[in-house]
Amino acid sequence: MPKEKEDKKKYCQKYTNAWETDPELKDWIARDSINDTLVTCKYCRTVLKAHKKDLLRHAKTEKHKKAVSLEKSAKSSRLIPTIYKPIISEKTKLGEIKICAFIAEHTAD
Ligand SMILES: [Zn+2]
Repeated sequence: MPKEKEDKKKYCQKYTNAWETDPELKDWIARDSINDTLVTCKYCRTVLKAHKKDLLRHAKTEKHKKAVSLEKSAKSSRLIPTIYKPIISEKTKLGEIKICAFIAEHTAD
């Protein structure tokens, strides 16, 4: 069917500037400066095809949601007032170190 081929051509698999204003994408997509057919997820550090359908699908994955919530909780934990003093066990200490490393990594760029 020649009609199908034509339809495929219409899908532009390139980074689209409009995505930067799309509420579903703008918070996590990072343009690949070398290859504009790829998009990186800032939270998961995952390279995705610059295809809106694929990007929206990625946004719905558990992996992505977890990465986003981890990032958000890491940010909000900085805002927790000093009155809030959780009981620190060895396990939570380790968790805090991990979160700090995570913040450091993400604020570096
Ligand atoms: Zn992601």
